[in-house]
Amino acid sequence: MSTDCLFCKIAAGEIPAEKLFEDDDILAFRDISPQAPAHFLVIPKKHIQDPAGVGSDDEELIGKMMRVGSNLAKEEGISAFRLVYNNGASAGQTVFHLHMHVLGGRPFSWPPG
Ligand code: AMP
Ligand code: ZN
Repeated sequence: MSTDCLFCKIAAGEIPAEKLFEDDDILAFRDISPQAPAHFLVIPKKHIQDPAGVGSDDEELIGKMMRVGSNLAKEEGISAFRLVYNNGASAGQTVFHLHMHVLGGRPFSWPPG
């Protein structure tokens, strides 16, 4: 755990979040500032700074994040959704603990802005 990390604190239960799923490895919770009718985040409980910080030991963990995030979208009744990882401030990353955005419930354009 990184002591000054917001998402480590959410994973540790020190800061509240609207949790959708939790197991020993990962946590899913609703984004506090939703950008779509459905917008939640899937994070590893372990502190990884960003996608570039994912190591070979983390490959199973990242696969689980994708599987659980996709299943949660389906449980919310959403079949078309977007999964987003931002890496670095100029790509839009504001919280430096790895997180997968799951967005759905409205149309999305491509390419992203
Ligand atoms: P990013 O810009 O990719 O780093 O995404 C960070 C996301 O975390 C943003 O969509 C924020 O709205 C969201 N966020 C920040 N603080 C919280 C919080 N306390 N609970 C839930 N989501 C949060
Ligand atoms: Zn962290």
